[in-house]
Amino acid sequence: MQEVYINLGARSYSIYVDTGLLPRLGEYLKVLKLTPRVLLITNPVVGSLYGAVAETALRNAGFEVIRAEIPDGEEYKSLATAEKLYDLAYTRELDRRSPVVALGGGVVGDLAGFVAATYLRGVPFIQVPTTLLAQVDSSVGGKVAVNHPRGKNIIGAFYQPRLVLADLDVLKTLDPREVRAGLAEVIKYGVIADQAFFAWLEENLERLLALEARALAHAVAVSCRIKARVVQEDETEQGRRAILNFGHTLGHALEALTGYTTYRHGEAVAIGMAAAVRLAVALGMFPEGDAARVINLIRRAGLPVEVPAGISPGELLASMRRDKKVLAGRLTFVLPVEIGRVEIVRDAPEEAVGRVLRLCCN
Ligand code: NAD
Ligand code: MG
Repeated sequence: MQEVYINLGARSYSIYVDTGLLPRLGEYLKVLKLTPRVLLITNPVVGSLYGAVAETALRNAGFEVIRAEIPDGEEYKSLATAEKLYDLAYTRELDRRSPVVALGGGVVGDLAGFVAATYLRGVPFIQVPTTLLAQVDSSVGGKVAVNHPRGKNIIGAFYQPRLVLADLDVLKTLDPREVRAGLAEVIKYGVIADQAFFAWLEENLERLLALEARALAHAVAVSCRIKARVVQEDETEQGRRAILNFGHTLGHALEALTGYTTYRHGEAVAIGMAAAVRLAVALGMFPEGDAARVINLIRRAGLPVEVPAGISPGELLASMRRDKKVLAGRLTFVLPVEIGRVEIVRDAPEEAVGRVLRLCCN
């Protein structure tokens, strides 16, 4: 068992990483001494695989379970879905100490967290992330949100869970493409903050792709620790937290240009990370050999490293400028100076950016 303690004063909590955790959900929840009526939010895919195990675990620990299933898909991470959940919570008389449990990937987690943050101005929130991405990314940082028709994650809050259970067993039913997309963020952590972890990934990538429990436990726990360290320094994203956006400047632009349908987020980030290391080389900040190591690891994870044919450097530049994280029109890139250390580069020279984009575009 790996425990990652997220130290945020009164809002501190633990992430437990292990196999066999879901059947023990009730025991873990009981310790928090809450109202014994739980709103369990999931979707039909995850619900049919793991809903019964979760419900039994909760009932055996004395909880009454109200299960809500939201349809599968990013488009249901919306205010309209949240409103249905508020209705349910209100009719079933959930009170200020009734926990909301999110059982699912990042979509379920973000939506359930948003409902937990806002219903009665906040009720206890418990996360059981069931995708690799949700385990290594959305379980740390306290961002909860729904989408607005005009943009992703536009309406949200910072709201910390009381507990996160990352059960590695549930990853076995994931589509391999989802596993690879999650690995993109794992590789990101190595590049931005931990050279030894990056080297470990180079050694152990095949074990991760095969979902070997011990390797997964290490990768998930280290990823959460790295994100936690960054977030603890900057809980509400004023500065240093931006390093988590390594690969995301171009990644977000690519997702937007392809209508969020071509790529999983991690795949777009993989292309963005490959572009970022090339840009860092072009600016003379980062050794070519290290760039090759990064690109090679991304490739070995079965992730793309080139912008697809049909997208031009000009379109990419324009899309990057529209990103909500662009402040006053200044393009910001997170670029490595060595493996394990990055810098935030504002106003990267247009000429170099263009050169690298042309290199990445077919
Ligand atoms: P997702 O939640 O859509 O899950 C991907 C697919 O896998 C879905 O079809 C889902 O039903 C299925 N699935 C989930 N668990 C499964 C399992 N164990 N077995 C089989 N199938 C399973 O996608 P995601 O990649 O987990 O999350 C993406 C979302 O997370 C986005 O909305 C993004 O904005 C959000 N996100 C939030 C944060 C944060 O800090 N809050 C960080 C990263 C991403
Ligand atoms: Mg991301």
